[in-house]
Amino acid sequence: MRERHSRRILVTGGAGFLGSHLCARLLGEGHEVLCVDNFYTGSKANIAHLMGHPSFELLRHDITFPLYVEVDEIYNLACPASPVHYQHDPVQTTKTCVHGSINMLGLAKRLRARILQASTSEVYGDPTEHPQREGYWGHVNPNGIRSCYDEGKRCAETLFADYRRQYGLCVKIARIFNTYGPNMHPDDGRVVSNFIMQALAGEPLTVYGDGSQTRAFCYVDDLIDGLVRLMNSPDDFCGPVNLGNPEEMTMLEIANKIIGLTGSTSEIQFRPLPADDPVRRCPDISLAGDMLGWAPRTRVEQGLAQTAKYFERRFFPHRAHAAA
Ligand code: NAD
Ligand code: UDP
Ligand code: UDP
Repeated sequence: MRERHSRRILVTGGAGFLGSHLCARLLGEGHEVLCVDNFYTGSKANIAHLMGHPSFELLRHDITFPLYVEVDEIYNLACPASPVHYQHDPVQTTKTCVHGSINMLGLAKRLRARILQASTSEVYGDPTEHPQREGYWGHVNPNGIRSCYDEGKRCAETLFADYRRQYGLCVKIARIFNTYGPNMHPDDGRVVSNFIMQALAGEPLTVYGDGSQTRAFCYVDDLIDGLVRLMNSPDDFCGPVNLGNPEEMTMLEIANKIIGLTGSTSEIQFRPLPADDPVRRCPDISLAGDMLGWAPRTRVEQGLAQTAKYFERRFFPHRAHAAA
């Protein structure tokens, strides 16, 4: 691990769900943070509490265009992340992954700065091996409705690996599995935000397919800790490394958990399964354990309860008030 001293750090996508938590964490460690975001899916509300901080700066910018700033380190998180968002303008999604990565890598190359890429478990596609290890090459449809994201992120990994091989850049690749927590977008269509919003509104929880498909959900604070550890790991450790919580569960299980913890009267409604929806997904996190000393600490029940409280306070204040 590197010594802790104050650095100037660029966070692209800093006004999004993960980015806003990362900015707060880095400011808390005494760093200067430059948040770059085009507000495609992020919001000023996510970073409102950081705006007055003397070491925080916000720049509205689309990373598919070149960016000339001076920083010591770059976290590249900019990219819509939920299927509803990344499928809204799929060409822009691939551009953000590919052109955006080239620009951020070009910036890192000029500055000789470390750069971390927020990659994804989606590089494994609809996996045929369980749990997924970093050595698995994946099972990805190259031209389906999820491909703009899956293939965009795969190409970004290629670029990161080649900037390292070709220019000796210090790169870090994190393969992030499904993450949830406060600051998730309420309308992003992701399963945790959908189910919590539906449960709090007393509306049916929309389970796609028969609900037997699985995911493993990591609480945001744990995930951010993994990203920071990866950035601070020795120069020669580049990843890719899986970051996620290996507690695999079905969508029906998570629906029932959320109904239980919100005390909701909502029922479950079955809807058609979207195309190319992965059947099973769960990380093997032994590499993160060995190389970063990292493992998630938050149990799903605890994290979901904290997330539901956030959604209730922010979007259902009357309900929160009645419960208090
Ligand atoms: P998010 O949509 O909340 O945040 C993405 C941010 O990037 C938003 O603020 C958005 O406005 C910004 N952005 C998008 N395109 C941009 C562009 N061209 N230029 C500048 N800013 C742009 O999503 P998130 O959940 O915070 O995800 C952050 C990163 O982590 C993404 O790269 C995503 O692929 C990755 N990731 C997230 C998860 C997860 O479960 N949340 C899982 C795997 C990977
Ligand atoms: N770039 C940038 N900021 C910088 C340096 C480069 O945005 O400080 C962009 C620029 O658009 C360039 C891209 O990064 O096209 C890739 O840079 P690189 O040096 O790898 O390639 P080249 O400049 O030769 O195209
Ligand atoms: N899903 C669901 N109901 C919803 C939203 C999603 O059953 O209202 C399912 C979806 O089909 C997928 C899983 O939940 O099988 C996770 O979906 P999400 O979009 O959160 O993440 P990803 O598919 O990218 O892992």
